[in-house]
Amino acid sequence: MAKTIIVRCVDPRFEGEWTENILLAIGPHYTLTELAGIDPLDEEGFNALVKKAKALLSINSAINRLLVLCHEDCAWCKANNIKEEEQLKQLKSLTEKLIKALPQLKVEMGYVDKTGKLSYLKEVSGE
Ligand SMILES: [Zn+2]
Repeated sequence: MAKTIIVRCVDPRFEGEWTENILLAIGPHYTLTELAGIDPLDEEGFNALVKKAKALLSINSAINRLLVLCHEDCAWCKANNIKEEEQLKQLKSLTEKLIKALPQLKVEMGYVDKTGKLSYLKEVSGE
């Protein structure tokens, strides 16, 4: 049974060439999508994301982990002139907000490169 929720970009490679790597690295999981994986756009978008995660928790109490993924070569970031450094700052910021909003879950950050390889990034404390 899936114990993990991932929050990731709408990039179609997640449903194509990256699927197998992600599944091997994370195991069975639920997926919530945002632009760039890390941009719920505004407070309303963030609240909707938390609401969806809580809805999943209500149907599966085994969920204990949420993984926020950003990725290399992101079309949304390119279109909005978001450099990698800024993308990682947004990732950290969203992860910190999710830690506070969903204290029952272990919230982690990851980065997916062009080949679909997942790397875990240092945990943030939520402080
Ligand atoms: Zn993307």
